[in-house]
Amino acid sequence: MQLTITGLSKTYPNGVQALKGVDLTIQQGLFGLLGPNGAGKSSLMRTIATLQEADSGSIFLDDLDVLKEKSQVRKILGYLPQEFGVYPKITPDVLLDHIARLKGVANGKERKELVGALLNRVNLYNDRKKNLGTFSGGMKQRFGIAQALIASPKLIIVDEPTAGLDPAERNRFYNLLSELGENTIVILSTHIVEDVRTLCSDFAIICQGEVLRHDQPDEAVNDLNGNIYSKVITKTSIEDYRSKYQVISVQIKGGNLTIRIFAESDPGDGFIAQPAILEDVYFHQISGKMNVITL
Ligand code: ADP
Repeated sequence: MQLTITGLSKTYPNGVQALKGVDLTIQQGLFGLLGPNGAGKSSLMRTIATLQEADSGSIFLDDLDVLKEKSQVRKILGYLPQEFGVYPKITPDVLLDHIARLKGVANGKERKELVGALLNRVNLYNDRKKNLGTFSGGMKQRFGIAQALIASPKLIIVDEPTAGLDPAERNRFYNLLSELGENTIVILSTHIVEDVRTLCSDFAIICQGEVLRHDQPDEAVNDLNGNIYSKVITKTSIEDYRSKYQVISVQIKGGNLTIRIFAESDPGDGFIAQPAILEDVYFHQISGKMNVITL
């Protein structure tokens, strides 16, 4: 199974060009979508999820024309938007049963089995009689995944799913996504760059509606190895360093700044060579595009 996006463009009525000729080929497994706010990630995901139209371009899931055959796509799609509402006074088993009925599972016994299996899958079976309003952020997200899994989807889209989750909840949620990635295409947008390194077999960086890079995380990191150097500097000298070096990220530590730079060869000047991390790839890629100051 393969998702092929070609020349996808979208301009909103207010004139914002959210997607500018996006080309991407996405295989089975976990695919990470990285990019700053406003990059076009949600626009891309909503378009793949058949929730909005593109102006031009095409999306094919194998030979299924996603932009034309929307109802076919919806049968095999699981979508977890950035924010979704739950009815607070309803229990997860009742709401899942209701959604399964809407999705066409007419037989009551079949639905009961399906709902039980889904609740087990996302580790919420023991909480099935609690009102959704009492759920933690992580439990709500796992419920969101359960509803997205109702149709045994071949394509799963999750938009910044870990916002508001604590680290343990985030881990559990990612384990679940990894399992799903074994036999489906899972597209995941996130702000947490290192999570893409750990989880995803493939990733893309998008910025201002364009794909800046599409690669495997390990390959991308290897590309920068030998080119990353760091140094602790005083706050007041930052502009000086920016004018001399290609600064890709700046972190405040104990009143001083630690800068990471990209350099073709050892710059000397007190810099220490560092192993590259995916965040370097990310900032290196978008800094040229946006002139970002990353503190
Ligand atoms: P991301 O998910 O990467 O933060 P979005 O796809 O939400 O990016 O947004 C891309 C750009 O399109 C932004 O400039 C945003 O303000 C704009 N945008 C998103 N949705 C709409 C909309 N419905 N109408 C007008 N502009 C929009």
